[in-house]
Amino acid sequence: MTAALTVTGLTIEVVGRDAPLQLVRDVSFQLGAGERLGLVGESGSGKSLTALAVMRLLQAPVRISSGQITLSDGTDVAALEERELAAIRGRRAAMVYQDPLSALNPVRRVGDQIAEAIHAHEDVTAAVARRRVVELLREVGVPDPERRADQYPHEFSGGMRQRVVIAMALSAGPELLVADEPTTALDVTTQARILELLLRLAEQRGLAVILITHDLGVAARFCDRLQVMYAGRLVETGPLADLYRNPLHPYSEGLLASVCRLDADPAAPMPALAGQPPSAGQLPAGCSFRPRCAYAYERCERERPPLTEIAGGRAAACHLAPERSAGTVAPALAPT
Ligand code: SF4
Ligand code: MG
Repeated sequence: MTAALTVTGLTIEVVGRDAPLQLVRDVSFQLGAGERLGLVGESGSGKSLTALAVMRLLQAPVRISSGQITLSDGTDVAALEERELAAIRGRRAAMVYQDPLSALNPVRRVGDQIAEAIHAHEDVTAAVARRRVVELLREVGVPDPERRADQYPHEFSGGMRQRVVIAMALSAGPELLVADEPTTALDVTTQARILELLLRLAEQRGLAVILITHDLGVAARFCDRLQVMYAGRLVETGPLADLYRNPLHPYSEGLLASVCRLDADPAAPMPALAGQPPSAGQLPAGCSFRPRCAYAYERCERERPPLTEIAGGRAAACHLAPERSAGTVAPALAPT
């Protein structure tokens, strides 16, 4: 099966007056056609930067300093000139953001905005584009699409606006969708509906999706596979169910333990991941997670653990991963 996306050795830096500072380091991963990958981690872990890099939407002074970002047809997005990107964005890969308002022009009818996205990639008549707009709005569950197409963004609720943004993202038939916290700004009920919509669209259209989220509950409902980022690096990747059942990296374990469980006593304090992630300029020696790790031992300070493959499509960057995989290390942070 051809991969929808292959990222190899992606490193992202911010260029300032001093030496460039690396914000994302040596990230490599592959996304199969139709696969739904969750990119999770705390804010500042590099997950959004990785997604923006895939779309080539990083803004100066942040830039890709090395690595390849290859689409299914072999195009290396990282190597394209700015003027070549218009042919890729929207048509091969499209993005959905957290805040639908920022993705829409407040003074233009939503139908015209979607039509514009269609015209950007295809030479069709206004009538054909209009028909397509109405079909797209219907596909994403906007009721009464003929009438709604002529309305302005402020006439839509937050959830309906996100549906419009999703329709716009799908307008040129991309094979890859990058969704950065697409439900975070919405209330819980609307969140669930938008997730269901994305799931249905991904299945019907065979879309490969990268879902960026800090919410492991959201990831659990949507993803086939998870990638956990910490301090600019991938620290664990694996099939969703395996990772939830037996996280190999202590950071993944901490993230899972801090998820508010539905069956938990609401009055009990939520077990949280103690401490703060390090800033990019001040990574500790050895393993970046060491200051927060309940399992840290002497080797962790000397040696940075590389992302290492364990069995079953799993990989983790922890010296103890093989033992954890074999179940010979007891969880330290398991909720009691
Ligand atoms: Fe913890 Fe050491 Fe594993 Fe890092 S390498 S996560 S410090 S046990
Ligand atoms: Mg973010």
